[in-house]
Amino acid sequence: MTLEVLKTAYNYGALSLNYCEVNELTYKDKITNGVLCTDLLNNETFEIKAKKVINAAGPWCDIIRKQDKSLTGKRLHLTKGVHLVFSKKDFPLEQSVYFDVPDGRMIFAIPRLGVTYVGTTDTNYDAKLEEPNVTLKDVDYLLKAINNMFPRQDLTINNIVSSWSGLRPLIHEEGKDPSELSRKDEVFISNSNLITITGGKLTGYRLMAKKIVDLVSKDLNLKNTCKTEHITINGGDFKNPEEVFQYINNVKTKLRTAKIDEHKAEYLVRNYGKQTETILDNFNSKKRSNIVEAEIWFCLNYEAVITLEDFFNRRTGKLNFDPLSVHSEINLAVSIAKDFFNWDDVEVDKQIKKLKNMLAKKTDFIY
Ligand SMILES: Cc1cc2nc3c(=O)[nH]c(=O)nc-3n(C[C@H](O)[C@H](O)[C@H](O)COP(=O)(O)OP(=O)(O)OC[C@H]3O[C@@H](n4cnc5c(N)ncnc54)[C@H](O)[C@@H]3O)c2cc1C
Repeated sequence: MTLEVLKTAYNYGALSLNYCEVNELTYKDKITNGVLCTDLLNNETFEIKAKKVINAAGPWCDIIRKQDKSLTGKRLHLTKGVHLVFSKKDFPLEQSVYFDVPDGRMIFAIPRLGVTYVGTTDTNYDAKLEEPNVTLKDVDYLLKAINNMFPRQDLTINNIVSSWSGLRPLIHEEGKDPSELSRKDEVFISNSNLITITGGKLTGYRLMAKKIVDLVSKDLNLKNTCKTEHITINGGDFKNPEEVFQYINNVKTKLRTAKIDEHKAEYLVRNYGKQTETILDNFNSKKRSNIVEAEIWFCLNYEAVITLEDFFNRRTGKLNFDPLSVHSEINLAVSIAKDFFNWDDVEVDKQIKKLKNMLAKKTDFIY
């Protein structure tokens, strides 16, 4: 969803940069007027000038506030959330469920194509931001919660096919436990005019963005206000859920005609919406042998994929939700990406090794 929002913004003229790290803020008369960045793909540094600088760096927000020397008052309180993934065969759930666990928290279990995933934990976190690991304690907590609710499944660590972990950028409240902390978003404006927005939920992303766009618009004396309420997100031009099901059925028919497993229809439409058409056109016109070739072609050309990991993790979620397919699809993905980027054998090996390490980590839990 984040990516489709970015692509929609791009269609309206926004410029978005990937693999670009902000290292420093720049100032004129003590007011922020841009950032110094590094392009992480070639290590080149460059400057971006701006009338307004907005810090929406999630768990990293306070690092930017610290650079701005404005980390005073309210601070982030990071909590870690872990999800475990089981095959549908081992945990055959038909509907999403939300249930109590003995410590008073709530956990959900959600079926998604061939798997059921369960989450989440909510624990304090103060280690390395880039790598919030899944520990055996996290695994134990979730397994106990599931087996308490679904005793007949008797799931063990050996049934886990994948897992992931993330950090919530919550606002610290003295004396509160992780699950008691508010999920409300907050805006901080520093003396240098750096605008920070953090906290909140993904589901509230549009209203959070609206708050900032309207604020900036007013500050800059612009007449326009946020209009995203009426904008359809890229690929999502469906009037209602029935239209989605109809579209999935249309895609199924097209896949059957092209002699592709029709079960892929749901995955393609849930991932790419109406852009599935572009993938199917590419499959047919280029006479591809496998739909994955057309899928990676699409992600290279329309979704700024730079690495194999981008494709299997950030774009398609296969590392989390269909890890078995990663093994069988690596070579297909390499065959297309290699030509696109002119990768030599050393680069191909590097990419594959990194992806396989990530895959192994999905079921390798630390103490
Ligand atoms: C386990 C878990 C479960 C959750 N479940 C839900 C849920 O069910 N529903 C819901 O609504 N929300 C949920 N959330 C919360 C939701 O994911 C977050 O609120 C949301 O992702 C925060 O979005 P954000 O854009 O503020 O930050 P992020 O999504 O973290 O984005 C920040 C971005 O800033 C970039 N960045 C950081 N520093 C720099 C820098 N120096 N230079 C350049 N870029 C930088 C990062 O790379 C990142 O891409 C969950 C969170 C977790 C961890």
